[in-house]
Amino acid sequence: MPYRIVIDRGLCISCGAAPTTCPQVYELGKDNGKNKVVEKYSVELGEGRSVGIIPDELYSCAKEGADVCPVSAIYVEKIE
Ligand code: SF4
Repeated sequence: MPYRIVIDRGLCISCGAAPTTCPQVYELGKDNGKNKVVEKYSVELGEGRSVGIIPDELYSCAKEGADVCPVSAIYVEKIE
């Protein structure tokens, strides 16, 4: 089952922790410096929100990145 990643870019303070922890899934956007899902897995990108769909293999990585976020701006949910 794939997972959906939702990043609240409005909450993100651009600390870089998530992209450092899991660069396969996260990167700071060139648009506003806020975290976003990398192009490869991105399905929606705006000023305030980035959404992506990732394969199973990247779940642990994505979850670790979410867990280190100081403002809890990253949500990882299973797609049923
Ligand atoms: S860890 Fe949180 S605050 Fe830091 S860049 Fe990632 S989403 Fe933004």
